[in-house]
Amino acid sequence: MTKIGILGARGRMGQMLLSEIGSGAFKAELGAAIDRADGVTDNGMTITADTAAGFGASDVLIDFTAPAATRMHVELAADMKKPLVIGTTGLEEVDESALKAASEKSAVFYAANMSLGVNLLASLVEKVSKILPPEDFDIEIFEAHHKHKVDAPSGTALLLGQAAALGRDVDLQDAMVPARFGQVGARPEGAIGFSVFRGGDVVGDHTVTFAGEGERVELTHKASSRAIFARGAIRAALWLKDKQAGFYTMRDMLDL
Ligand code: NAD
Repeated sequence: MTKIGILGARGRMGQMLLSEIGSGAFKAELGAAIDRADGVTDNGMTITADTAAGFGASDVLIDFTAPAATRMHVELAADMKKPLVIGTTGLEEVDESALKAASEKSAVFYAANMSLGVNLLASLVEKVSKILPPEDFDIEIFEAHHKHKVDAPSGTALLLGQAAALGRDVDLQDAMVPARFGQVGARPEGAIGFSVFRGGDVVGDHTVTFAGEGERVELTHKASSRAIFARGAIRAALWLKDKQAGFYTMRDMLDL
């Protein structure tokens, strides 16, 4: 049995991970449940704020917290040579370089979205954007999430944007139009536009539209349960635990 440590155990994703590990569906058991303060969950599980002890008690860790916390966890994982699966979104470029630097010392897995469906979608978006030329088709990415989400656009929307940019052999930073308001002028050719909905309890909807003159192609994924992210992260942890130091993503695990 692999001992998995959960970072952010009190959070929405953390609780889902505890319940999936507890379900017995995986060859995994809880190494430690870690959050900002010591305590006990509703069903009697102990939560520790001693992050280093939690790392010590686990073979591999899963982090769904917040960027500032993930920064610390990445350093600790490198120092303690523990494989780490990261699902936290809203990371900045500097964080991503920190992940790559840490991955020289230990195995680091990062996925802005842990679901099989979304990663398959990203691979389809890359293919379609390679086929449909920018002079004929405009790419727009729409995402919807629950009212508690703090970052925008979602990590998944950015992941899909990157896939679209890759298909067109452009840099997402150059093509991206993250928001529109007021007299923004006509749409520049080759732009990759983003729009964002926040409300209610939406787990996560993403649509990539290729809009041409007279036709539109829409590729959509709808998540209806956080369990898909938790299961994907647990699979990633079991896959990562014996890997050598290095930076891994869903593409490596799913061979997409
Ligand atoms: P949440 O706010 O419900 O939970 C975050 C938890 O992290 C909280 O319990 C908080 O106390 C804890 N935390 C914060 N700082 C900490 C620290 N220093 N040490 C230990 N614990 C700490 O958030 P959530 O909805 O569970 O989402 C968490 C993150 O995961 C977000 O960035 C979200 O966008 C991302 N997410 C990713 C995926 C994916 O598939 N990759 C899916 C869902 C959510």
